[in-house]
Amino acid sequence: DSSFSSIAPAPEDPILTVYFASRDDPSPVKLNLSGGSYRSEEGKPHVLQVVRRAEQHLANDLSRDKEYLPLDGLSEFNKLSAKLILGDDSRAVEENRVVTIQCLSGTGSLRVGAEFLAKHNHERAIFVSNPTWGNHPNIFSLAGLSVEYFRYYDPRTRGLDFKGMLEDLGAAPSGAIVVLQACAHNPTGVDPTLEQWEQIRQVVRSKSLLPFFDNAYQGFASGNLESDAQAIRMFVADGGECLIAQSFAKNMGLYGERIGALTIVCTSEDVAMKVKSQLLLVVRPMYLSPPIHGASIVTTILKNSDMYNDWTVELKRMANRILSMRKQLYEALQARGTPGDWSHIIRQIGMFSFTGLNEKHVRFIAKDYHIYMNYDGRVSIAGLSSKTVSQLADAIHAAVT
Ligand code: PLP
Repeated sequence: DSSFSSIAPAPEDPILTVYFASRDDPSPVKLNLSGGSYRSEEGKPHVLQVVRRAEQHLANDLSRDKEYLPLDGLSEFNKLSAKLILGDDSRAVEENRVVTIQCLSGTGSLRVGAEFLAKHNHERAIFVSNPTWGNHPNIFSLAGLSVEYFRYYDPRTRGLDFKGMLEDLGAAPSGAIVVLQACAHNPTGVDPTLEQWEQIRQVVRSKSLLPFFDNAYQGFASGNLESDAQAIRMFVADGGECLIAQSFAKNMGLYGERIGALTIVCTSEDVAMKVKSQLLLVVRPMYLSPPIHGASIVTTILKNSDMYNDWTVELKRMANRILSMRKQLYEALQARGTPGDWSHIIRQIGMFSFTGLNEKHVRFIAKDYHIYMNYDGRVSIAGLSSKTVSQLADAIHAAVT
């Protein structure tokens, strides 16, 4: 007899269902476009050369040990991560009102931030975009916040429902938290323009909402780390508060190293000190202190100007490959005369395209073409290559005609 005999199996996770279906498909031409990992032109996982170099450098340094990091992680990593997102000349950093702690990638940073907010924010409501990354609602509700949605995506235009977004944020209770994806919105690939960000900022500030940026794709949207940080910097420049969950999974390809950071920009040094002390209380009972390897890799790259430059070149190459895949897919659909307007494929930003295909199309494509994507029609453009674009274009064409 088991202590667990009354446990029911967990409901199926649709993403895992797609993963298993793809894994168990014996077809030699199968293609999994459901995940959020960058693939090389050969369709393989991609380790950045600069990461290999940093690892070699670390392996040769025999002075390094395996002692525990402090609760808030590697302090050099924290400083450099804050600089990467806030900029070299950030006034908030200069004024010592920025707290950064190393966390377990983007997810861990979101969770630590959410636990902190659940304890210390008087308004428990947290607004996320409709739709948003599937893990957001779980992370926030399990931390004890109450998840609400603001309008974001307009299926008619396959673009931003800007009016709806502003209306919903304008109607949120003062003090509520708003999750804003800094760039390369997952799953829609739809980002506000800088002018729209400015209007969002005005509503957020005038309603005293607390912005929580999810910064999982810095550098992946435009290929440029500075451009992709603009929306966040706009909010920090007005002197107000915000939280930022930062991930190095995508932009350094460090998915499995689980390396990221939570930054909280406060209004004064005094508040920042208190916030930091409370963050440490959140971390200690969860995992005591974060892992060392990923933080060491990132720090090595960020502090060495040679490696930093190499990184920006490799990052730009990845972003350009994604852009070129978008263009090739769009052109392949044009060439086939596939019914409908597919220009959103080249308009959308980042790793994913929200194709507009429905679940019926997605199932048909999996069965007849051995291509796997999410049931909401999201495909990872970063998983395509010049060789597989025509396979996907054939599949989409057959599904919609
Ligand atoms: N936030 C968004 C919007 C994402 O798409 C992802 C990953 O896909 C994450 C956060 C978290 O990624 P990680 O925990 O690997 O950094």
